[in-house]
Amino acid sequence: MSSLTYTVRIPGQQAPAQMEFAKLKNAYADGNIPGTALVTLEHQDFWYPLAELMGDAPTKPLLFPCGACKQMVKSRWIDRGNPVKCPKCQGTLTVPNPEATRAQIAVEQKQAKATPFLWLGVGMILIGAGTTIFSYLHARSEGGGYAIFYGMVLVGFFMVMDHWFDFRGKRKGR
Ligand SMILES: [Zn+2]
Repeated sequence: MSSLTYTVRIPGQQAPAQMEFAKLKNAYADGNIPGTALVTLEHQDFWYPLAELMGDAPTKPLLFPCGACKQMVKSRWIDRGNPVKCPKCQGTLTVPNPEATRAQIAVEQKQAKATPFLWLGVGMILIGAGTTIFSYLHARSEGGGYAIFYGMVLVGFFMVMDHWFDFRGKRKGR
């Protein structure tokens, strides 16, 4: 644990600094870095106050079952993403990140909801385009009567594009 390198955001300073735990602990004890400074590790996607890391400010406890022996392991909220040892089977576990899991579920639910719209969009394009082509082939286009089908192509196109950009955005975000 003590050899971990933290990224530290000190209030009033522009660029975050990289510091090993031991050095960080000394700087905090000497009052060179305030407890309000924010810290994170490379594999963590959230920041937390230095005072919480040093145990001077309360941090939420986190209970989770060991994947191997199902023993409930007690950890800290700020240790999400960190490896810990199971007290029962001595196996090495990673403290789960409930927010990352929730975000993942939200993405999957949104994707499941978006897919019918994708197919509805594709269907609208096919019907709209098919009707337009049919009207040209039979040369019986009666004025604006087919505008509704052009509209369908357009709406369908936007539905597909919306889904596409959403999909790409998600892939970029991960
Ligand atoms: Zn275990």
